[in-house]
Amino acid sequence: MRGMEHWLTKRAYLTPDNIAIELSNGETLTFAQLYERACEFASKLYTVHQNGHIAMLSNNSSDMVVAFWACTYLNVPVVFLNTRLTAREWQIQCEDADVKTVIFSDQYKEDVQQLTFKAYPFSEIHSFRSVECTLTTDMNLDSVCSMMFTSGTTGRAKPVIHSYHNHWSSAVASALNLGLMPSDKWLACLPLFHIGGLSILFKSVIYGMPVYLLERFDEEKVHRALMEHNVSIISVVAVTCSRLLERLGDEYYPTAFRCMLLGGGPAPKPLLEKAKEKRVPIVQTYGMTETSSQIATLNEAEALRKLGSAGKPLFSASLQIQVDDTTAEPNQVGEIVVKGSMVTTGYYRREQANQEAFRDGWFHTGDLGYLDEEGFLFVVDRRSDLIISGGENIYPAEVEEVLLSFEGVQEAGVTAIEDSKWGQVPVAYVVANEQVTADQLLVHCRSRLASFKVPKQIYFRDQLPRNATNKLQRHLLKS
Ligand code: ATP
Ligand code: MG
Repeated sequence: MRGMEHWLTKRAYLTPDNIAIELSNGETLTFAQLYERACEFASKLYTVHQNGHIAMLSNNSSDMVVAFWACTYLNVPVVFLNTRLTAREWQIQCEDADVKTVIFSDQYKEDVQQLTFKAYPFSEIHSFRSVECTLTTDMNLDSVCSMMFTSGTTGRAKPVIHSYHNHWSSAVASALNLGLMPSDKWLACLPLFHIGGLSILFKSVIYGMPVYLLERFDEEKVHRALMEHNVSIISVVAVTCSRLLERLGDEYYPTAFRCMLLGGGPAPKPLLEKAKEKRVPIVQTYGMTETSSQIATLNEAEALRKLGSAGKPLFSASLQIQVDDTTAEPNQVGEIVVKGSMVTTGYYRREQANQEAFRDGWFHTGDLGYLDEEGFLFVVDRRSDLIISGGENIYPAEVEEVLLSFEGVQEAGVTAIEDSKWGQVPVAYVVANEQVTADQLLVHCRSRLASFKVPKQIYFRDQLPRNATNKLQRHLLKS
């Protein structure tokens, strides 16, 4: 067994009085308090948890953080459920992930009744009496810490296994890339049930850094936190980044704010350029649930020279572009494959998905991209979203980027429809100001894109289908 003293125990010993969690209402928890509460919660949860995995159903809250660390003290893998799914979907995911007990924040009391699993609200567990039990002192780095479903952007979500070692490697590799400052404070507004959120909890405890925790992305609260509460880093996706820039207006962020970590999906150039103008320190990153968050990141020093790139693979990670199972030439588009200590050992009980994804020691991401001559990664699009029209490749992200560069367009999504002549043709769905017309957009596209890439139809919508991390679900655009 590769062991390591429990991170939270160690952290509470090293810097007990430092802030672990800060909430927007001003409440805080120190590392010593977080440690005590987690151990206490563990000794109560112990009475009801049966052998097997524990599912956690909660929106971001300090209770959720305490409950999560409690599970690590009991050495029980935590299966995170997406609060935006239906009870039927939770039931299926719990079955898929071998869950025995569900713990949840009280607001889900009614929904949870539909599950066939034993389920306990946080408040009820708090009311239990503590029992004597042995809590983990040394973590086994190879054991399963958590399981989390992929975002389900392209279809049915898959349960990804994360070992303690995966989370450790991810936190360390991120720090080696972004650097660590004693004054760092990371704002978490991505759901903790997705890797972009959860990974911040590990960083907090391993680095000894406070997390400014919000229940969800709330433009006003995030803006205020960045302006007034000494936040130095925030993780965002393109659409939340864009809303923050809108909200920023003529102001500038304080200099203490050093990193807006942008990932989770394509970063449209117009957005990056706007951020550059506003001196917003965007750091582009590429990663996924399967890589325990970031696996490649663009250093700030290169941000302007390599605008649009997701950077280079982090320490302890390797990345290649493959075409027909051989390494691609520089600038040649192919599938992005990765390996490294932050990469999952696999999907839980999905033999076929594992066989398809892991080949020759590489994890095949299903994303298309290329490396330039200097080894910088450019993510092009998801392979499954690729549109092939009359034998030509169309990357929806490229067309979306052009649409987004038109003044007044807030969101754009491009997908294919069947076409008797070309096989497939692109169509676009757009959220825009009332002044914007389809003809204007078509003229704009025609002057910037080859004719086969220009959308055959443009539909205006009030909003586009997005999942809990605000990612565009292109396969739902047509419905
Ligand atoms: P599912 O696998 O269930 O369809 P998902 O892939 O969206 O959902 P996540 O693991 O949350 O689930 O997201 C990872 C994916 O997000 C990557 O595989 C990639 O397609 C996309 N992505 C992440 N970072 C970037 C980036 N910098 N540029 C473009 N796409 C990115
Ligand atoms: Mg995926």
